Amino acid sequence: MGRVLIIGAGGVGTVVAHKVAQNPDVFTDVMIASRTKAKCDNIVKAIGNPNIKTAQVDADNVDELVALFNEFKPEIVINVALPYQDLTIMEACLKAGVNYLDTANYEPKDVAHFEYSWQWAYKQRFEEAGLTAILGCGFDPGVSGIYTAYAAKHHFDEIQYLDIVDCNAGNHHKAFATNFNPEINIREITQNGRYYENGKWVTTQPLEIHKSLTYPNIGPRDSYLLYHEELESLVKNYPTIKRARFWMTFGQEYLTHLRVIQNIGMARIDEVDYNGVKIVPLQFLKAVLPNPQDLGENYDGETSIGCRIRGLKDDKERTYYVYNNCSHHAAYLETGMQGVSYTTGVPAMIGAMMFLKGLWKKPGVFNVEEFDPDPFMEQLNKQGLPWHEVFDGDLEL
Ligand code: NDP
Repeated sequence: MGRVLIIGAGGVGTVVAHKVAQNPDVFTDVMIASRTKAKCDNIVKAIGNPNIKTAQVDADNVDELVALFNEFKPEIVINVALPYQDLTIMEACLKAGVNYLDTANYEPKDVAHFEYSWQWAYKQRFEEAGLTAILGCGFDPGVSGIYTAYAAKHHFDEIQYLDIVDCNAGNHHKAFATNFNPEINIREITQNGRYYENGKWVTTQPLEIHKSLTYPNIGPRDSYLLYHEELESLVKNYPTIKRARFWMTFGQEYLTHLRVIQNIGMARIDEVDYNGVKIVPLQFLKAVLPNPQDLGENYDGETSIGCRIRGLKDDKERTYYVYNNCSHHAAYLETGMQGVSYTTGVPAMIGAMMFLKGLWKKPGVFNVEEFDPDPFMEQLNKQGLPWHEVFDGDLEL
């Protein structure tokens, strides 16, 4: 049915490649390209399908990308490199006439700041080119928006309160490690918190607001209010929302390490001079931390990510909780990667499947909640991320 190019051969790219290979009726021709070709070749070896092509590409370089697109002629690119590459890949897609999907919004390298404005600015150019760009199609962002769209379509006349809750109750048995790219992860967590209330954004100190929340099959966990990018598009696309927040669990050990990393300057993203060489401390730290891709083997426990929603249906207040629990070990057995890469990579594959099946295809730049959630929800159940619903329970929030 379709030709797909996966860019990025990290933890998420590995899962996307496995899941794409499991759906050969949809993905007939596949290429994995990344900065380091050997990593792409290793993924192909692990999957055991020599028909998957590989290539080296610097995704910061538009001309290199265009040359690769013109040679392989993909219908859609799944961008699972880093958020820094979003704009160059979108630019190359426009030049070569290729559709686009990613899992994280653009961030400039030198400021830890994420917002959709840079990518939304491409809307008209994608419309004029007749190309589709699907933004933020991992789990959160991604499934969190699709859950919200599904709730709005089937269970609410008006969504008023939205809390996205992300719990990782896994244990990788390392003193400190991040579950995805450490540089991106630490930049996200050390920022100010932010949530939306009554038409305004409220800023908090980093990790200032926290609360114990109870997760299915896991129990109570300390959950911290963070800013997360899907809040920006969800409050825009669901204007009835009065309050939207995002919560993530962290253990005390993790937070202590994080505090030390910040206090000693290792979370800095500006250049420092070290023996005449310019280094960015956070990038150096990434080089010495455990590689998130190597955590899978000893990772036990599970993740639980969902949306807790309160609103009106037929003039009555109701609550709704929709969530998925994902076992790190099961993810590892299937793809060689832990649950955080798995929960991101599976939705990215499904998004590309939706596009190739013509179900999520319209010219322009869209966040996932702007498409029909039903066929996507159906695939989540088939592709390894089944979801569960609780109606009119206590949301704790
Ligand atoms: P990794 O760091 O493991 O992998 C990133 C990959 O991109 C690496 O293979 C890297 O190459 C490659 N890459 C980096 N820069 C370039 C470049 N200039 N040109 C070509 N390739 C490049 O990250 P993850 O797999 O953990 O994460 C991938 C993406 O998924 C990130 O954008 C992250 O923010 C997002 N994500 C989204 C989530 C969601 O739920 N929405 C959750 C988790 C992650 P090399 O190996 O040579 O360094």
